[in-house]
Amino acid sequence: MSSKDPILGHQIQQLLIKHNLENPTNSNVSNWQDENYRNKLIQQYGEFLNNLGLDITNPSIAKTPSRVINFLINESFYGLDYNNFPRISSNENIYKYTAPLYSNNITVHSTCEHHLVSIIGEAKIAYIPKDNIVGLSKINRVVDFFAKRPQVQERLTRQILVALQMILGTEDVAVSIEAKHNCIVVRGVKNFNTTNSTFAFGGEFLVNDGLKNTFFQN
Ligand SMILES: [Zn+2]
Repeated sequence: MSSKDPILGHQIQQLLIKHNLENPTNSNVSNWQDENYRNKLIQQYGEFLNNLGLDITNPSIAKTPSRVINFLINESFYGLDYNNFPRISSNENIYKYTAPLYSNNITVHSTCEHHLVSIIGEAKIAYIPKDNIVGLSKINRVVDFFAKRPQVQERLTRQILVALQMILGTEDVAVSIEAKHNCIVVRGVKNFNTTNSTFAFGGEFLVNDGLKNTFFQN
């Protein structure tokens, strides 16, 4: 069975549009799997580098345009294509586990959409299971899917919350992300150690201060 679930992906897309949380994109993402279209992007990126002043006939950088375009489509921005949404296996909660469940230190590798410079950090997710439980690594995969887009951290945090609420079948979800934006490190104010923290809470996590405090302490 494929590790991807385009049908779920397109349901998630509708949900994000409804919540005004979709990334600013156009329909060209749907051309990504067309080899001719990819080749056109590679050619255009080569022209850009050439116009910038790089000698792309030099063997060292001749393949840079194809490396960059494949990196963007297959890795950095793969989360813009809902055909790549991860398949989520879920099982009935036969254990009747209803305590909060925490996933800590989830890797967040993203890209700042203002400067196209990397964002590197970690996410923490908590949820209170209801009728179904999911394979735990699926939470990491959902985080990674939304991280692998041009992003702002605030939107990323809210996208993960809303998607997980639908997938997990409960409002009771909490998301936090602490990340270093390399656009702050390498340009502008050039601060090396600044991190940015964002949070999004739903259901019980919104109204129950004890639960919220436990989330921050875990
Ligand atoms: Zn930036």
